Amino acid sequence: MTKKVCIIGAGIGGLTTGALLSKKGYNVTIFEKEKMLGGRSLSFDGDTLALENYRRTLSKFSMSVPFSEPILEEIFNKNMLKGYTLDLGFHSIEGGTMSDVGRAIIDTGNKVEMVGTKLGLIRENGFMFPLVTTKDKLRFLPYILRLYLSGESTMKRLDKQSIAETIKMYAKGKMITILELLPRVATTVNDLSRISTGESFRATQSNLRRGSTPVGYPQGGLVSLSNAFANVIKGNNGKIHLGSRAKEIIIDNGKASGVIADNKEFKFDIVVSNILVQNLLNIASEKHFPKKYVDNLKSLEGTGSLCAYYSLNRIDPKLMGKSFLFIERDAGIKGNDAVGMIEFVTALPEAGIAPSSKYLVQSYIICTPAEAKSKKILENLKEILDRNLEILIPDFHSKLNWAIYPAVWHLDGVAKTIDNIKPDIKTPVENLFLVGDCVKAPGIGINCAVNSARILEDMLEKS
Ligand SMILES: Cc1cc2nc3c(=O)[nH]c(=O)nc-3n(C[C@H](O)[C@H](O)[C@H](O)COP(=O)(O)OP(=O)(O)OC[C@H]3O[C@@H](n4cnc5c(N)ncnc54)[C@H](O)[C@@H]3O)c2cc1C
Repeated sequence: MTKKVCIIGAGIGGLTTGALLSKKGYNVTIFEKEKMLGGRSLSFDGDTLALENYRRTLSKFSMSVPFSEPILEEIFNKNMLKGYTLDLGFHSIEGGTMSDVGRAIIDTGNKVEMVGTKLGLIRENGFMFPLVTTKDKLRFLPYILRLYLSGESTMKRLDKQSIAETIKMYAKGKMITILELLPRVATTVNDLSRISTGESFRATQSNLRRGSTPVGYPQGGLVSLSNAFANVIKGNNGKIHLGSRAKEIIIDNGKASGVIADNKEFKFDIVVSNILVQNLLNIASEKHFPKKYVDNLKSLEGTGSLCAYYSLNRIDPKLMGKSFLFIERDAGIKGNDAVGMIEFVTALPEAGIAPSSKYLVQSYIICTPAEAKSKKILENLKEILDRNLEILIPDFHSKLNWAIYPAVWHLDGVAKTIDNIKPDIKTPVENLFLVGDCVKAPGIGINCAVNSARILEDMLEKS
């Protein structure tokens, strides 16, 4: 008999789950409370976006805009976003075309082109590109091979070892810089004593194995990914209800049996929650879960950043298509040093998110969720972001059309750190599962959300 699956949330995790399961013949229904697909991976259409809608949507996803140039009212009144596609606040996907999400798109019979790049590093007086040169690769070869061949038991052992400890024990020379940078950008956490070596190495290992570009960005904005998965769902007779909030998960005798949405009760064989796990207990009564599980969910912390979109009317061709990391020492924030990224991949015309002869540069600097709410700290972080862009483009203000700086205090659903124990995909309630970047699955951010959907698909096939 065809199993009826309900997915709560049309984020990338929910949409991937819907695409994979509907392709396998499950009867899929998705309830999404917003009127747009994609959740934290959504894209705004600058042609139709109104200021009030922009602010309201950002606030629903734990974001606000502390700074902009000129003020937001002027940007919107003068239609300055016309012709742009503006993601909620995105940067790039680890692994580019062959990333987990890239491959899931291909596996579901779709195609989304990605523009990929390597990573460079901003220095005091310029930049180096790429950060890891061929000479470095040869020098690091024994380490790279060891990492490439490491089994899951080694990774598990390293899960509890922080990157700070790993650096102290093994790293020397340029390896130190690389270990100070990459695990931070991968996890969006500055504090090296909280970042797990196993988690960071696992992400790098899968990148090595797939031989893809380190990072990539989907052409046409993140909405291209959501649309691709939604088309698969609809093509397999699945339903996606936008603007429909799931109010309650019905649980009887420890078993999920349906949901209440749009003031109606719907029966399902399987319920999959794609919402932030910290909010699960708002729609599923805590009495159905063990106390330890409830306490853990309540304790989980996300990650934060100050982002910046710069629209420029000229960019030096030598910067185009590249991504640059930077590290600000003694930045006066948790973890001491602040790492960030400035991306010119989205400035390429083929990224397709800016009008012709305009260039959209995305950037961000990592901070904690609490720091992302402090105006004083954000002012400091904005200065650091601008200063690093200034190194790449001296006097960038003279080429600036507009700049918007969104701050986010829930970038990742759950920070992938040693002290945050992500819940399993299978919950203690029968027939209730979790997907998204909040749950135990390999990879970070969007890749973690996609991998959780793959794991659930396998789990259901085997049950
Ligand atoms: C500013 C910013 C920058 C980022 N940069 C990167 C990056 O560079 N690389 C990367 O890999 N990741 C990045 N991320 C993280 C990435 O966006 C997320 O990991 C990914 O989108 C999470 O997807 P998800 O499916 O887990 O959940 P979500 O996107 O949170 O989706 C959950 C969905 O559930 C819906 N929902 C909630 N409650 C209900 C309810 N009761 N009923 C119905 N629907 C409900 C929500 O509206 C939402 O659409 C960034 C995120 C932000 C915010």
